[in-house]
Amino acid sequence: MPIANNIKDALSGSSMIRKMFEEGIALKKQHGADNVFDFSLGNPDVPPPPAFNRILRECAAAEAPGVHGYMPNAGFLDTREAVARKVSRDHSTQIGGTEVVMAVGAAGALNAVLKAILNPDDEVIVSKPFFMEYRQYVANHRGRLVEVSAQPDFNLDLDSIKTALSAKTAAVLINSPNNPTGRVYPAETLAGLSQLLLEHGSKSGRFPYLITDEPYRELVYDGRITPPVMSMYPHSIVVYSFSKSLSLPGERIGFAAVGPEIDDKENLLAGIIYTTRVLGYVNAPALMQRCIVSLAGEKMDAGIYAARRAAFIEVLNEAGLAFAPPEGAFYIFAKVPSKDGKTGDDAAFSAHLKKHLILSVPGSAFGASGWIRLAYCVNEKTIRASAPMFKKAVATY
Ligand code: PLP
Repeated sequence: MPIANNIKDALSGSSMIRKMFEEGIALKKQHGADNVFDFSLGNPDVPPPPAFNRILRECAAAEAPGVHGYMPNAGFLDTREAVARKVSRDHSTQIGGTEVVMAVGAAGALNAVLKAILNPDDEVIVSKPFFMEYRQYVANHRGRLVEVSAQPDFNLDLDSIKTALSAKTAAVLINSPNNPTGRVYPAETLAGLSQLLLEHGSKSGRFPYLITDEPYRELVYDGRITPPVMSMYPHSIVVYSFSKSLSLPGERIGFAAVGPEIDDKENLLAGIIYTTRVLGYVNAPALMQRCIVSLAGEKMDAGIYAARRAAFIEVLNEAGLAFAPPEGAFYIFAKVPSKDGKTGDDAAFSAHLKKHLILSVPGSAFGASGWIRLAYCVNEKTIRASAPMFKKAVATY
């Protein structure tokens, strides 16, 4: 059976990661899972907090009529209210439950939001490197992704964003803490971005939405906090999922929350609720929504990832591999060694690491050649055990 041309193209475009995933499975079969250092996947291996298991059991035991039925497409109101309290706290603002739409993870929320706001050929600005799925999500809804460069430390480059803004800019999409760099955008940068977007909106008559995709919000190190965004820029849309904070990526629970001062907020919300329905999500999973009523305010313990980060930094330093020190999330973006000062070949280096049973993702997949992404969703023992292999791989590259 034929498949659509654009899907065929998309399949060949994403083959780098698919190949790595498949080769990882084959390598583990051949060498034993313990001997393969798989840093390719951002799939939390830390168990959910104990409170989750208790609350899940309580919610599963509830037998009230209709608990498994359809509900309003935006979700249960008590869940939305619990989420609104979280967003109000995180973003130094005051929103209500009716300003929240529950979603099938951050991925579901992004697709619902983009479908609701994009006219054909509308532009969405992202800073490179970025979560690779943004390409598909924007294309899904006939938008155009405009990729701009970041500063050398991967902070946002406001000048590049300013140059990219146009009458077609529907949104700027940011992700902090960032996948794949681990960068947390400072409050001053976000204030500058807000100023820039307000000026652009005043001049052009179209205020771009600032979509802040923040599944790693609580996963920050060294006493950092992820700065609020919604209180800085009124046309903000917060996208979040509990995949990383509660280690629940398979349960597909997240939300979109819209700024209380957005003009035409009622239409925007109605749009996101409608797209949630017609994209086929219908509503976020009911059981998870009921759990989230009690868990939305739960703080995750980033300590375990902090210990892994410290171990990984030691391993990379010992191997002589440069990297961007992660401030949040669970990724290290490491620089591909290069003798002549030119950009290193990330696909070649990733393939070389694989020969040493180390799995990584080439930075080109995220729009940043010359880098590789290493995810530390593996235990500290595995990270430390990879040290001799990293050393050998770097020495022989
Ligand atoms: N956004 C970013 C930056 C991510 O890293 C991910 C997943 O890794 C997602 C969105 C999708 O999250 P979810 O699986 O909760 O839908």
